[in-house]
Amino acid sequence: MYQMALYGKGGIGKSTMAANISVALAKKGLKVMQVGCDPKHDSTRLLLGGKAQPTVLEYVRNVPIGKRKLEDVVVTGTEGIICTEAGGPEPGIGCAGRGILTTFDTLKKLGVDDLDIDVKIYDVLGDVVCGGFAVPLRGEYADGIILVTSGEFMAMYAANNIMKGLGNFDTGSPRLIGIILNSRGVEGEEELVRRFAKATGTEVIAVIPRDGAFAEAEGCGHTVREMFPDSQISSTVDSIAQRIIDVSEGRVQPVYPHPLNDDQLSDLAAGREIREGEPPSTRDPCGGCGKCKRSIRDSRIMMSCAAYGALAAYMKVSDYAVVLHGPESCLYFMDTSRSKAVLELYDRDVFQITPTHNVRCTMMDDAVSIFGGVKYLEKALLDTIAEGHRKIAVITTCMPGIIGDDCISVIDRIMKQNPGVDIQYVPADGDITGEYTDGFMMAASNIAQSIDLSVKPEKGLVNLVATSFFDVHSKRNAEELDRMFERFGIKVHCRFLDETESWRIVDFCRASVDMILNDTENNRELYDLIRQRTGREPFPIPIPVGLYDYEEWLSRTGEISGKEDEARAEMALVEQEYDAFIKEHRHRFEGKRIMVLNKLSFNVDWLIDLLKDLGADLVLVAAFVSPRKRKTSVVSRHMDIITQDYDSEKVKDDLERLKPDLIISDLARNDEGVRFARVGKIGLGVRPTLEYAEYLENIMRLPYEEGWKRGGIE
Ligand code: SF4
Repeated sequence: MYQMALYGKGGIGKSTMAANISVALAKKGLKVMQVGCDPKHDSTRLLLGGKAQPTVLEYVRNVPIGKRKLEDVVVTGTEGIICTEAGGPEPGIGCAGRGILTTFDTLKKLGVDDLDIDVKIYDVLGDVVCGGFAVPLRGEYADGIILVTSGEFMAMYAANNIMKGLGNFDTGSPRLIGIILNSRGVEGEEELVRRFAKATGTEVIAVIPRDGAFAEAEGCGHTVREMFPDSQISSTVDSIAQRIIDVSEGRVQPVYPHPLNDDQLSDLAAGREIREGEPPSTRDPCGGCGKCKRSIRDSRIMMSCAAYGALAAYMKVSDYAVVLHGPESCLYFMDTSRSKAVLELYDRDVFQITPTHNVRCTMMDDAVSIFGGVKYLEKALLDTIAEGHRKIAVITTCMPGIIGDDCISVIDRIMKQNPGVDIQYVPADGDITGEYTDGFMMAASNIAQSIDLSVKPEKGLVNLVATSFFDVHSKRNAEELDRMFERFGIKVHCRFLDETESWRIVDFCRASVDMILNDTENNRELYDLIRQRTGREPFPIPIPVGLYDYEEWLSRTGEISGKEDEARAEMALVEQEYDAFIKEHRHRFEGKRIMVLNKLSFNVDWLIDLLKDLGADLVLVAAFVSPRKRKTSVVSRHMDIITQDYDSEKVKDDLERLKPDLIISDLARNDEGVRFARVGKIGLGVRPTLEYAEYLENIMRLPYEEGWKRGGIE
């Protein structure tokens, strides 16, 4: 079987040409199939007596996969020509390019390749505007390409673009058969198109005159080749058919075209001599060819997509329902990772998490991606409202972002029709707008807008602010936090954002103090959203870890709560305990050369302070930004001793040079001959830091060969 694609600008007459060529080929005794690849689905009309046939995409939309049959989407027309039409969405909705891909895929699955056909002709819409419309250019589909153009500049411009597209799908063999000039009566048209053909290294294989015979035949639902078989037009069409046969049988060679660059096209349009010039690049930089600067090596592993980040944020507010506008697979991925995390935590039997699951997905599938998903979004929203939800968030995944679903109009309309329903919109568009943290912040920004600024603060209430509350999900840390607050008669009012309810967010300003849970870049960014909404400032000391931050926190919390005495008493107690510990353990650390290599996505000031107090020699404290986190930057009181942007490839040299006794890192290491201890989030207050020091001490006491070198706290 020989496959051929007919390309050209929209409205140039491709379908008429394709139908005439199909008839001419069939009359030469060949078994022909014509595939219309245009959403307006009129390619095969002239082969079917002027009637339209059902389209593949409508069929895909209406018939479930298991019930589809090839005979439902192919119709036999004049001269036994097998006809099929892709169809497509309404203008401006969905993704027609995706529709072409689906059509080809569906026909293949239904067994189109088993049909007894000699020549298959693809009649393809206009310009190659995207990968979908370029599918027929792929080697697996088109053995040969014919371009249809007139002498109008835009028609030649489109033909030139198609030549560029052809270069992107090089099969290793030339495939351009030539150009058909479908005359429009432009002055000097034939000469112009022949100049274009010559300049691009191809030839005009046929000139079709403007002729009333076309309109007459089409009015009767037929081709000129059938109605006027003895006309000059029919003879020209026969010559095109013969050319296709000659190419398919190897008697005539197609060519590689040389598309013109913009300057050369202007010369052509102005009637000037076409200047010499480098042909335009046919390949955009993609990072895969090694010719351009981008490369796989530069790419980061994303934590997860923005849609997931937004979903995670809304799931922390228990009375929000989320409509995830996208395919089921996105929800599956997001839900699986979330459930896995939750399960892992439950397994350890120390965490108490109540996951919320008011999530509905619009289940976009292939058909929805072609025809647009707003109706599905509307239905999902109405179903969610019917279930009684009044606070809803719509989060978009990649697919609606790519096909351009107009979600805002749907949301506006439904909110107008349903007073009292608040629908927040996060156009995360999957990973198009960024990664997990970006989506989380977009959602948090929306949520923060509901804070009621008229609420007056009350003493004794505090808000906690963080993107993650895992630290205080463990029973031990939660109890420690309670103890820290109880001492001052303080109660937690709103956890922004964690297992809270929307009324607490509305009522956020009732608390007189906002405390950041950990001093990280993400948490500071989150507080910026609250600051923008409320004008408030956070408590100067985050929930403390280590002696010095704890003392500072005690002192300031004592002041604001009017309980300075309690603060002083606690300070005296922990100082005593700390000093006794340092005295007892210092001899184990004194003079020990320690390297701290950390991505420092969390603050380790407590560790630096503790090691200094224990007399350790900090030969290097280095921070390298994790490749998985774009935004993290170092947050520390000890910036003077921290080497920032540390290149992990320098570790080997630094080990030789600095000869440390111990490496402490939050990333697993296995450096020959050097003891290693892992550090992570440690807990709250002072006691956990002292326990960590005992762990370091044990590591340094054990012989190197004992197997602890892969160590870490489990
Ligand atoms: S990146 Fe896009 S496709 Fe993947 S899970 Fe996120 S939204 Fe879905």
